[in-house]
Amino acid sequence: MILRAIKAKDAGLGACVAAVLFAVTFFAERNEWQHVEAVERVAFERTADSIARGVVARLDGRLDGLAALHEALRDGTVSEGAGFEVAAALIQGKAAPYLAINLIDRDRRIAQVWPAEPNRAALGRTVGQSPAIVALLDEARMTRRPKATGIVDLFQGGQGLVVYYPIHRDGEFRGYLNAVFRVADLDEDIVALAPASLAVRLFDGAAADAAADPLRHIHVSDIPVLNRHFRLEVSHARGVRGSADYFVALVLPFALSLIAGGTASLLLARSRLGRAEEALLANLTRSLPLALITVDARGRILRFNPAAERIFGVPAHAALSREIHDFVPVDRRDAHRGLTAGFMESDLDNLVMGDWRSVEAQRADGARFPVSVLLTKTLIEGQRVATAIVTDMTEEQRKQIALVRLADDREAQAHRALSASQAKTMFLASMSHELRTPLNAIIGFSEMIDQEILGRMEPKKYAEYIKDILSSARGLLALINDILDYSKIEAGAHRPNMEAIALEAAVEQAVRTARGIAHEKNIQLVFQAGGAPTAVMGDARAIRQVLLNVFSNAIKFSPAGSTVTVAAAAPDAEGRAAIVVEDRGEGIPPTFLANLGQPFHQARGDSAVAGEGTGLGLAISIGLMRSMGGDLKIDSEVGRGTRVILAFDRAGTMIDPA
Ligand code: ADP
Repeated sequence: MILRAIKAKDAGLGACVAAVLFAVTFFAERNEWQHVEAVERVAFERTADSIARGVVARLDGRLDGLAALHEALRDGTVSEGAGFEVAAALIQGKAAPYLAINLIDRDRRIAQVWPAEPNRAALGRTVGQSPAIVALLDEARMTRRPKATGIVDLFQGGQGLVVYYPIHRDGEFRGYLNAVFRVADLDEDIVALAPASLAVRLFDGAAADAAADPLRHIHVSDIPVLNRHFRLEVSHARGVRGSADYFVALVLPFALSLIAGGTASLLLARSRLGRAEEALLANLTRSLPLALITVDARGRILRFNPAAERIFGVPAHAALSREIHDFVPVDRRDAHRGLTAGFMESDLDNLVMGDWRSVEAQRADGARFPVSVLLTKTLIEGQRVATAIVTDMTEEQRKQIALVRLADDREAQAHRALSASQAKTMFLASMSHELRTPLNAIIGFSEMIDQEILGRMEPKKYAEYIKDILSSARGLLALINDILDYSKIEAGAHRPNMEAIALEAAVEQAVRTARGIAHEKNIQLVFQAGGAPTAVMGDARAIRQVLLNVFSNAIKFSPAGSTVTVAAAAPDAEGRAAIVVEDRGEGIPPTFLANLGQPFHQARGDSAVAGEGTGLGLAISIGLMRSMGGDLKIDSEVGRGTRVILAFDRAGTMIDPA
């Protein structure tokens, strides 16, 4: 998780830390090393120099001794034989291992050796095996001066440098005093003087290239011996770095730097994450519309966000010196203290106290107001703290009250509307009744007059008038009846008398009744019976009223000579039995169809045909069909005709109309 949070920036800084650390440790280590090396080198040079001086002094000492012995041999102070041995032993002194002193006769044969061991092997041998040595010996004899050879192979084994002192006595050449410095023994002797870490080598010829061996400090000194110059090479194994040194100097700082760099990256990423989280939290706390109040175990306020300041009307700095209980109405404070203590003492470390709770709070000015509170608890550095998330419910409460009021008002309104409608129905019912009584009298007496039951009517014009009176009274009665029916349906006061009805028989009966008016208009009313009788649930009188109304409309709006068909149709989508009444009349315009069933609505209000109707028939028919659980639908096209579909609720059983 934290690894994924490391950004390029963190990794870059980490790498910088690692690089700087590595560079610092590496250069410190390198400087230290160079310093040690420089000190070592100076010490070495000094030592090598003093060794060389020691060697020169030793050789010179021995050469002085040899020169003295040579002198003594020349002037006869020391004779061959025992005298020579004593003198040689004196000169040799401590140089025993490396210095052999011999006498050579004039034929270059070794005549006498000191010490006997290991030089005995050389006795009697002839020196000067090579022309160069012979030439050197001759030169020594001729010049009467001692000469040194280079480093040569010795009879005793090994190598050495040899000096020859020509002995002339009494004007006569007698041979040579010869001294051999065995190089290996000399080296060993020098090394014994020097620290064990030094290697020493005496050689003649060119100096070894000191710089050629990077692993060693090499010091070469000039060692003059008589006519020659030898060289002494002192060398010392340089403090060369071993793998452990490289581990300490390179790998270890590198690894440590990597670890430090990685740690730095992690710490950077972590602190960045921490800062981001803090900023996020601070932003949330600031901008939340909810009050966030954090309290300690005793209820003392530790945090009070801006929303809390707004809701409780107290600035945060003032709230911080108070307790949460101060924001609870006085009469609830004791209970609140108990609740808070219980919540704080419960065992769980991190807890949400139930769900939102509705409680009453108190603003700084003492006003009480409703709030919803959610409590959470957690441990921070071993301290229990709780945070209350509080939302002001004043506005919600106000809306709720308004809603309840509104609902009450609506109910009252509906109640008033209902009673108004009931009053209207009552009025219409009683009005109709009041109107029907005198109308029936008018109709009855008009019929009597029309039929001249009590005697002939004179003049003839009256007969015309009485017919008008009769038809107007009948129309009025029909209108009143329709109004009464419609208002009953509209007020829901129409209670159909539901029973199982044999639909085809009912339709057939209505068709027979309507045939009279169809005949008058020269229209054929055809009923196509479907076969098996279908039983539907309905009110026999209402069904007849609906059928007659639909038939009479079809006949009324059909041209003379046309046909109106009545047929049973397939059950509708809801499985209801259907009767379809189809005419080939003028049809109904779509605008009217849209308002189908509205009372007093006529598609052609100004036409003579329409004048015969009230405009209530369809509205009543639809109402009646619906009150029986059925429906009435019209499908029409202007100029082609109209189809009225009547759907009836099916009864469970079949009824035989006979
Ligand atoms: P009305 O007493 O006027 O017939 P209805 O409510 O029965 O009243 O019919 C309302 C109107 O619907 C009629 O005036 C007529 O315009 C139209 N209408 C009803 N049935 C038909 C039909 N079969 N063909 C054409 N128009 C019709």
